[in-house]
Amino acid sequence: MFFRASASSSRPRLFHGVHCHRIRQRSYTRVVTHEKAHGYIGLVSQITTSNTVTISYNQIPSRDIHINHRSPSLSTSADITFRSQLLSRGPRSTKSSFQQSHLQQNRQRRLSTSIKNTEPIFYFPSDIRDDMVNLTPPQNPPRWDHSPEGVVQLMKDAIAQYKAVSDEVAALLPTECNFETVRARLADAEARFDIVAEPLTFYQNVAISKELRDASTQAEQLQRDFGVEDSMRLDVFQAKVAAEKNLRESGAFERLTGEQRRLVEKMILDGKRAGLALPEEEKTQLMALQKELSQVVVEFMRNFNEEDGRITFTRDELEGVPEDVISGFTKRTEGDKEVYDVTFKTPDIFPVFRFAVSPTTRQRAYDAYESRLAINVPLLERALDLRRRIASILGYKTWADYVTEVKMVKTGDAAQAFVDDLEAKLRPVGIKEREILLSLKKEEHEKRGLPFDGEFYIWDYRKALYYDRLFVEKTLSLDDSLVKEYFPVSVVVPTILSIYQNLLGVRFIEVTGGKKDVWHPEVQQFAVWERDANDESGFIGYCYLDLFPRAAKYSHAAVWGLLPGYNLPSKNRHYPLTAMVANLAKPTPERPALMRHDDVTTFFHEMGHVFHGLLSRTRYSRFHGTAVARDFVEAPSQMLENWCWEPKVLEKMSNHYEKQVPLSADFIEKIVQSRYVNVGLFYLRQLFFAKFDLKVHTDKEPTDYTNLWTEMRERISLVKSGEPQPGQGSFGHIVGGYDAGYYGYTYSLVFAADMYRTVFQRDPLDPALGQLYRSKILLPGGSRDEMMSLEDFLGRPPNSEAFLDEIFGSSKSDASANL
Ligand SMILES: [Zn+2]
Repeated sequence: MFFRASASSSRPRLFHGVHCHRIRQRSYTRVVTHEKAHGYIGLVSQITTSNTVTISYNQIPSRDIHINHRSPSLSTSADITFRSQLLSRGPRSTKSSFQQSHLQQNRQRRLSTSIKNTEPIFYFPSDIRDDMVNLTPPQNPPRWDHSPEGVVQLMKDAIAQYKAVSDEVAALLPTECNFETVRARLADAEARFDIVAEPLTFYQNVAISKELRDASTQAEQLQRDFGVEDSMRLDVFQAKVAAEKNLRESGAFERLTGEQRRLVEKMILDGKRAGLALPEEEKTQLMALQKELSQVVVEFMRNFNEEDGRITFTRDELEGVPEDVISGFTKRTEGDKEVYDVTFKTPDIFPVFRFAVSPTTRQRAYDAYESRLAINVPLLERALDLRRRIASILGYKTWADYVTEVKMVKTGDAAQAFVDDLEAKLRPVGIKEREILLSLKKEEHEKRGLPFDGEFYIWDYRKALYYDRLFVEKTLSLDDSLVKEYFPVSVVVPTILSIYQNLLGVRFIEVTGGKKDVWHPEVQQFAVWERDANDESGFIGYCYLDLFPRAAKYSHAAVWGLLPGYNLPSKNRHYPLTAMVANLAKPTPERPALMRHDDVTTFFHEMGHVFHGLLSRTRYSRFHGTAVARDFVEAPSQMLENWCWEPKVLEKMSNHYEKQVPLSADFIEKIVQSRYVNVGLFYLRQLFFAKFDLKVHTDKEPTDYTNLWTEMRERISLVKSGEPQPGQGSFGHIVGGYDAGYYGYTYSLVFAADMYRTVFQRDPLDPALGQLYRSKILLPGGSRDEMMSLEDFLGRPPNSEAFLDEIFGSSKSDASANL
């Protein structure tokens, strides 16, 4: 999920790192995209800076993580002591006395197991030519030695410098405005600003020191405030308009490159979308509405983040839930009974949905879970009302049209047509799957002597939850924990790096010893080169991998584009830096660090973003790498997930930690089969969210959203509800940044499937195909329309045949959706 809590109507101008996440096949909307952007309230940052520690929940089956964190008993100050003690002993010290006592205090099994062993694990990709280690990059890596005061001061300086350029541009006479004086100057100032600002705001996610994290958050606040102010500068907008007019009248516009023209047009569009082209009175009105919307959004998301409800069960009611999960619940006495309080955080409530054999327990849990954010219902209504009015002032038919204008899909109608078409095709698949699960339910109810009413309820199905789990266990006898034994981190990580190196023709040279400069000793720093590099012309950029959990670190997997690549005015190149922050398992005293297949896929996916950020080569930083339309940005990484379902790749990546053998063909087949289990119901549930999102952002009038939520859910996802519950209050996406954008998760999967089948499936490890991917998709970044890149790569316009074939499991689909 991507949190954006702003009503800001303009595209963020200065910042464009997309740090995102994949949707997991066997979970829901895996969340957390993180973009630092103008006017975006950094709710993700709040999560990561508010003393939360999240470790990967190895035994937790479900990963629908809105904010997959719990408030651990490890406080921030304790954490700092913990870290500093460890560090003073050097990174290889294990089990400090502090840690020992901490472990005793800490009753949270999941947290404690993950910090048992703090030994850093370093991996080196192979295939490096000996002489490559002597190559010197033409650009020094950034330093990571900022003080908290320095972070804030540097941000202030960067803002002042950028503002000075804006002032100069604004002071130009209309006749002086042209491409060089306006566009190129602003683009250069923007890049220079990003180079300073991005690393500063990154500290909040990774820094060991709380002071530094806080300073980083403060710097981001400064950046955001300035961004809002800057995006509303009419004088700068007027200079841009004058420049465009001069360019067009003189014929110079036609002589610009495609990327330059795009820069001119995007800058004008930013201003229009911010309302700068409106008459004064409407502009004032617009700003008031946007301010209010921003407040409503902040309040909604604050409730969302701070939600702290719980539901109580007796031991009997929790029958079926594993002991180790129950032991994590708070036990207390109520009257003469012992009861357990279960919070609505994923690691607590999801095992109840997944394992509780009593349908009444699951129903109660579900009803409470759905209504946990009823407080947000009026806020959502208010936000929708404000968005309707803002869209109208800006001259858009609907909010969906306003939002999609800068996406690949272009209009609200086109997004609607996409989801409608897909729903029609998936419905029969979902109905069939529901029948099978229903017969499983009938059997189960007879076995347990429960009444059976022939209905399939919302608390009966969700991916990986009750009947879906039973179905997988019954039909595939596939056990996640056994699969895991074949994926030691020490095998998977270097193998994946090596696959990418060969596929894309690059080499990772680790920076070590005195030259290494990182924010934490466990971080690996790499200089990335072309495979055949002989001198500095073969330099690509830097990559940092921060892979292991530690306290107060960003708790998911994400990629940050910390430095953009672009052409400096001197004609030299500025090289990019991308950083992956993840939380792979650490070893325990009994076993090496192991990854679930799902973790392997996530890692592969995230590396896809790393390479998007490294191998792009645009002239302007604004278009670098992942700075593409939001409904396309996931497509390359979603395509790359396919590698993790290819038998030959699975064999290559696996090695049993004791037996030292790769996965057997039989095992691999089961894994592959599990990919599309109940996939119709899975996507129909996704489409319910997407359609609700589009409907509320398209309708001209408000309605009873609780009823709408319940009615659409039953109709589209094919599961019956109990009493209507205000689940829309917990639909953070449509308030916090994915408004009229939820369709994008599925939309980009269609491109991903098409790209994979059309180009890579015949040989996913073929370097020639990797080069094609580099040149047609990665290299252009956002410097041209994404559809052009796709058509160039595919050799034809994209279609949804491959995606549908995957779902229908046939090689030939009788129905291909129009995009
Ligand atoms: Zn992603």
